[in-house]
Amino acid sequence: MAFRLLVTAGDGIGPEVTREAVAVLQAVFSHADKSLEVTERRIGGVAIDTDGTPLPQETLDAALASDAVLLGAVGGSKWNALPPDTRPEAGLLQLRAALGGFANLRPAFSIAELAANSPLKLEIVSGADILFVRELLGGLYFGAPREWNRQTGEAWNTMRYTREEIARVARIAFDLAQKRRKKVTSVDKANVLEVSQLWRATVTEVAKEYPDVTLEHQLVDSMAMLIMTAPRSYDVVLTENLFGDILSDESAVITGSLGMLPSATIGGKVNLYEPIHGSAPDIAGKGLANPLGAILTGALVLRLSANMEAEAAAIQAAVRKVLEMGFRTPDLVRGDATGFTVLTTTEMGAKVRAMLHL
Ligand code: NAD
Repeated sequence: MAFRLLVTAGDGIGPEVTREAVAVLQAVFSHADKSLEVTERRIGGVAIDTDGTPLPQETLDAALASDAVLLGAVGGSKWNALPPDTRPEAGLLQLRAALGGFANLRPAFSIAELAANSPLKLEIVSGADILFVRELLGGLYFGAPREWNRQTGEAWNTMRYTREEIARVARIAFDLAQKRRKKVTSVDKANVLEVSQLWRATVTEVAKEYPDVTLEHQLVDSMAMLIMTAPRSYDVVLTENLFGDILSDESAVITGSLGMLPSATIGGKVNLYEPIHGSAPDIAGKGLANPLGAILTGALVLRLSANMEAEAAAIQAAVRKVLEMGFRTPDLVRGDATGFTVLTTTEMGAKVRAMLHL
């Protein structure tokens, strides 16, 4: 049976980078003699312009009927004046909620050839390879009660988790750690927050199911510092929603360019895959976008939804090879650096396909 991939390219550079990711996936499937069925639907600003809503029903239906959803990016200044719940970003939030994924996976890694691109010192970032597993449907962003009382000048949000919500995301972190360097660092603020004490106790309990994985706990404030001073010490980092939002963005500096990083949201009805960058309106339509984050997102589709680990690894190897050979998109060339061959978005996609050894 064909693997059904829904592509919602969205706005700005979304269509440019997803096109390259899909071309790489098509090459992989055809080499493996497997069938890939790609369906395209609108989301974000382009859907507002055409359908009057950022998430048309037919996009949602197609997403729910697919094996995986690959999203480009949404948003742009054209739609900034709209009320928040009708803007392009609302379409993405609605899609995430409908698909129901509760674990957001975001790698932060250093590629030797790119390490000089990171604002951190080479000897600190070199070899770093962290996978964030962030709980996505609970905590402060969703907890009730929440209110801004304009009369009294008070506002409050609630950080709330159940043992089950913590245990299910913890199991995902431990499962992934078993396939990596077998270490989970759980982040909390257990010295102050009761919800973090429950988090710590539950994660410690789940760890007993995984005797081959080492568990350590870190307080979020010291973790923010440790990620910058000793990123190589971490393998899988497990966090609740808010802490993960902040720490995973902080960690993007390890790689050196937003355009390099993939993400996956799993655990719901259908997994959602997106490069972490936005629609980059400043460079859209100019062939300047780096497609490697989207291409590496395609590798996550293969690993986590299509059971094609060897092919996922082949894509990652091809990306490294292309960088090793000195090929770059403009975002990967700092200042007056020389010795690189600067490519357009489509040229970079073609190079990765040429370097695929399946
Ligand atoms: P952005 O990620 O779009 O861009 C930030 C900077 O990084 C820009 O200078 C951009 O040119 C550069 N950049 C981003 N991706 C790149 C790539 N692949 N190759 C080369 N350079 C790249 O973030 P922003 O500028 O804050 O937001 C722009 C729009 O994107 C806004 O409307 C925002 O709401 C939206 N956004 C969407 C998502 C999403 O769809 N998941 C995420 C973040 C922002």
